Amino acid sequence: SEGQLGVGFDFGTSGVRAVVIDVEGEVKFDSSLRWAAPDDPDEWLRAADTLMGDVPLALRKRVSRVCFSGTSASCLLVDVHDPCRVTRGPRMYSYNTLTEPISMEAARRALGALEQIAPDKHTTLSGTSALMKLVCWHLESPIAPEEAFSHQADYVAAHARGARGPGSIVSDWNNALKAGFDVDTLRWPGWLLESKLGEEIGRCLPEVTMPGAVVGPVSASMASRFNLPPTCSVVAGTTDSIAAFIAADATTPGHAVTSLGSTLAVKMLSERRVEDASRGVYSHRLGNAGRDRGPANAKVEEINQNQQGRREGGSDGVNADDADADADADADADADLWLVGGASNVGCAVLRVEGFESSELEARSSDIDPSTDSPLEYYPLQRGTVGERFPTNDPLKKSILEPRPENRTEYLHGLLHAIARVESEGYAALEALGATKLNRVDTAGGGAVNPTWMAMRQRMLGVPTVV
Ligand code: ADP
Repeated sequence: SEGQLGVGFDFGTSGVRAVVIDVEGEVKFDSSLRWAAPDDPDEWLRAADTLMGDVPLALRKRVSRVCFSGTSASCLLVDVHDPCRVTRGPRMYSYNTLTEPISMEAARRALGALEQIAPDKHTTLSGTSALMKLVCWHLESPIAPEEAFSHQADYVAAHARGARGPGSIVSDWNNALKAGFDVDTLRWPGWLLESKLGEEIGRCLPEVTMPGAVVGPVSASMASRFNLPPTCSVVAGTTDSIAAFIAADATTPGHAVTSLGSTLAVKMLSERRVEDASRGVYSHRLGNAGRDRGPANAKVEEINQNQQGRREGGSDGVNADDADADADADADADADLWLVGGASNVGCAVLRVEGFESSELEARSSDIDPSTDSPLEYYPLQRGTVGERFPTNDPLKKSILEPRPENRTEYLHGLLHAIARVESEGYAALEALGATKLNRVDTAGGGAVNPTWMAMRQRMLGVPTVV
């Protein structure tokens, strides 16, 4: 209600950010820090504490909702009796079970087992999926009765709630997608739970709820340390790139957001759900299915209502009661829109690794003519890394950063052009699979500040491309 505030924490690839917003979505405060060790769960918890402590006391006293987003498919196993006790350390978003030496032997067996039971081209059938990470852990050493599976966001949220015991890890259906959660029926699927594998690992899977739904109060210790009101709740989170999408305020089908951060991720609103694991394409549900609608979900609700109004031939004035009744009758009918997309392993990280810091990026970019293609045909994975997820899923994909011109402006042109080519091929793949046609691209992340790149991308994408 009026005067109350929400704090959102975004656990990203290079660091973590916190933002305080009011009920209108106006930003009251924000703060961030860079990771020293991005895969250290203790550092995640410390970072949440540090950033919460940064929020001015007068604002903290008005916080009614706390929410965490994390990098997609970054997961770990914890002791359910004490979720801060990690039993298997994180396998992060980019960890590929099929190529990492520790897990590759188990991963081959895991993939074979999942291919037997999962639907064709299912999103879990990839070396980086959360389900593959879980099955590998189980094949490396059987999951113990007290072990619980947790995504990065679930883990930090459980800590904020001070949760203990069975049911302490609660996930959301955005994070849970790559662990196999069925976003049509909003259940863990029968193909998994009713299989022999499912009998062995099903017990460790979390309860899954709607992003933004209230999960429980913040812990007494957190409330007292930070002077949060006793009524302050932790709500279910989402993934970092969905958080970026929601923040960009895209509400019509064909509207996309590219995150040009350390890695490139694209997401677009679509009327149709598309999925193809062989191209790293998947769809998130962007709907509420008539369930518990907290204020944190107002944006999604608005999207649904706009869409519903459009379908009914009106621009607004949808009857919310009718929408609720429909949703109750058929959960899927209310999932009006899908957030389709994929995440590549290429991205801006390569720029930093190749020695381009901000000042050089700005100076050299302004010397590049965005109306010309670079003759260099790079595939700009970071040096020393292999494997791509999207727009083709190829765990053996090699980086191409040769030939390397003497002139660093030409080199930068080649890199920016190559990343932009992966982006446009990504959107083309979505269209080829039947998603709504792209009509606009908003850009988030560190690469969005580059006007030359923006012009180059707009030319290649053929639609308005903005910050
Ligand atoms: P993350 O996804 O890790 O949270 P950010 O969204 O903070 O990352 O983006 C950081 C990236 O932005 C860095 O890899 C950096 O190379 C890139 N970047 C910063 N300035 C520019 C620029 N002017 N042009 C292109 N890329 C840039």
